Amino acid sequence: MIFDLASRRLVLGTRPDVSCGNLYGIPAGREVAFRSKDCPKCKGTGKRGNGRCRECRRYSEYRSDLLPVGQVPDYSSPYDAGPCRGCDGTGEVAETMTDHVDRKILFALIPEIMPVRVYQRDGGLTVGESLFGMLPADSRRLPFALWSSQDYGRSLAEWKANPDGFVATVTARITDESAVQACKIAGESGLVADHIGVLLAADGYTVAAYLAE
Ligand SMILES: [Zn+2]
Ligand SMILES: [Zn+2]
Repeated sequence: MIFDLASRRLVLGTRPDVSCGNLYGIPAGREVAFRSKDCPKCKGTGKRGNGRCRECRRYSEYRSDLLPVGQVPDYSSPYDAGPCRGCDGTGEVAETMTDHVDRKILFALIPEIMPVRVYQRDGGLTVGESLFGMLPADSRRLPFALWSSQDYGRSLAEWKANPDGFVATVTARITDESAVQACKIAGESGLVADHIGVLLAADGYTVAAYLAE
């Protein structure tokens, strides 16, 4: 993922496929599989006492095509099971808007290209905000918040006492976050938001990006 300043867009690329290879000496792009062995708990019978062996059933119930009852994966015996179906053997998959934005990009964007602005609002946080980081509908605001904080009025007091200091604190937290998803700061086309809004309520605040008018 890169940020293209001329078009003001995040441009998606590829990233390493984390679901294949690069393990046990098996290269990226190859599927890692394991041979099976008799379940050590039931000695391969699938039965324990008067009942079924739970140790190996959890595998056979999950993938009965791969492991019959009485067998468990032998993690000491990995092998190369052919090209990965997730990435067609390339070891790379396409990035999506739910992937994380590199911190270098966040530093390039905030605050110069994407400043942080405070909106004071009436009332308190909604249940959707405080529990799920979801905001009431607004045509310009992206629907998923970067984060929400319920603090019983501490932030409101901080902002009233020192508005610039409060904005600096929020700004630092955005760029310190290593897990900002692209869809939280850019629209579907990759066009980055116009600014980041801090919706300051009586009992806390929510941080969400706003697209240009
Ligand atoms: Zn067993
Ligand atoms: Zn793969």
